[in-house]
Amino acid sequence: MDIADVSGYALSSPIDPVQNRAFFGGVRRLHKRDVVLVVVETRDGRRGFATAGASSSAMREYFEGDSQGTFADVVDDSVADALEGESIDEIADAHELIAQLPLPAHLRTEAISAVDVALYDLRGKELGAPIYELLADEYGTEPTTELPLYASAGMYMEPAGYVEQAAVLEEQGFFGYKYRPGIGPDGDRRTVDLLTDAADDIEIMLDVHTWWKLRDSYGRDTVSDLVDHAAERGVYWIEEPVAPDDYAGYAELAESGAPLAGGESESSPAGLVELAETGAVDFLQGDVRHHEGFTGCRDAIEFCDGRDVEFVPHNFGTWVGLQANAHLVAAAPDVSLLEYPVFEDDPALPDAETDPGMYPFDLAFEIIEGQPAIDDGHMTVSDVPGLGVDIDLDVREDYPFVDGPWTAFHYDE
Ligand SMILES: [Mg+2]
Repeated sequence: MDIADVSGYALSSPIDPVQNRAFFGGVRRLHKRDVVLVVVETRDGRRGFATAGASSSAMREYFEGDSQGTFADVVDDSVADALEGESIDEIADAHELIAQLPLPAHLRTEAISAVDVALYDLRGKELGAPIYELLADEYGTEPTTELPLYASAGMYMEPAGYVEQAAVLEEQGFFGYKYRPGIGPDGDRRTVDLLTDAADDIEIMLDVHTWWKLRDSYGRDTVSDLVDHAAERGVYWIEEPVAPDDYAGYAELAESGAPLAGGESESSPAGLVELAETGAVDFLQGDVRHHEGFTGCRDAIEFCDGRDVEFVPHNFGTWVGLQANAHLVAAAPDVSLLEYPVFEDDPALPDAETDPGMYPFDLAFEIIEGQPAIDDGHMTVSDVPGLGVDIDLDVREDYPFVDGPWTAFHYDE
C-alpha cells in the first residue's frame, strides 16, 4: 500500500441543551461527544477510514486535558509526515513508523490505533475481503458474523428509570443491559435489587467508574460492600470498580469471587495483558480504537484464549468503531460478545415508548451511509470488503469541532 495522504478531522456532536446529571456528591455536565475521523489514502486512490477519540475512558479523556483537536493536528502533521510517500507491506510496519515519532505516549498509541484500522480497511478493499476474513486467516479461525450485543446505556437515574430502560432493551433482544450507577450507596443497591428482580432474559452489568471518581465519598468499604452485593444478586459483571491502575484493589475485590471487568483505560496493549495476568478480571475490555488496532489487540486475545478471562471489546462511540470491533469479535478465538452503546433516537433499533438512549449523539449514526444490520439484539457484520461501511464525508462540514472537554464532573463543596 503506497500511502499518498493521511488526514485527521476533529468533529463534535453537540448535546443540546447541555445535560446535567446529578450523581452522589455533584453534577456531571455533558456538553458534546467528539470524534476524530482518520482518512488514509493510497496512491491508487483507495481510502481507508477509522475513528478515534470518542470514547477512551471518559475519565482519562477529561483529566488529561488534551482536546480531540490536538489529536487531529497530530494526525495531519507528524503522522502524515511519517507515512506519506511510504510503501506499507505489513500493517505492523506502519506501527514502527509512528512509534518513532516524538509524541506523548497516549497520542502515539491513539495514532497507531487509528492507522491500523484504516490500513486494514484498505487491505480488505484491495483484496476484496471483509476485515473479519483477513483476521480469521491470521487467527486460524472460522468467522462468526452474527454477534450477540449487550446494550450500554443508563447513567445516573432514579432506580425506576434504569428498570424501564432495561425492560425496553430486553424486549429488543439484547444479551445484557449495562448501566452507570453513582446515585449514592442506597440508591445503587436498590437499583441492583430492582434490576435483577425484573430481569428475566437479560444479563445485568454495572459500569461503576463513577464510584472511584467520587473521591472519598463512597470509600473502599462501601465499594467492596456494593460489589459483593451486586455479585450476590447475580450480575454478569462489575466494571472498573477501582481506578484502572489499582491492580491491588482489583485483586482484593476479586477475592470474594465477584465477576470484574476492566481494561478500556489501559494505555497500551501490554497493559491489557498485564491486567489480565493479575487474574483479577473475568472480562478484559480491549478496544481496537485504543489498543493499537487489530494488530495491538492480538496479544491480549491470545492471552485470554483458553484461560478464565474473556475478551469482550470495549466499544463506545460511532458506528464506525462499532463495525471495527465487530470484525474483531467475528474472527477472534473465544470472543463472541460486543458492546452496543445506545444513544437517543437510534435509527437501527425498533421504536419504543421510552427511548433507552443515554443522550443524543447524532454523529455516531450519521458518520456512515445506511446503518448496521441489527435484529433481535444481534448484529450481522457486513461482508463488504474492508470495514464494510461507506463514510459520509459531509460530516466534516455538518459537525464542526467545538473546543473544550466533552464532559466535566462538578463536585459539591
Ligand atoms: Mg466502561
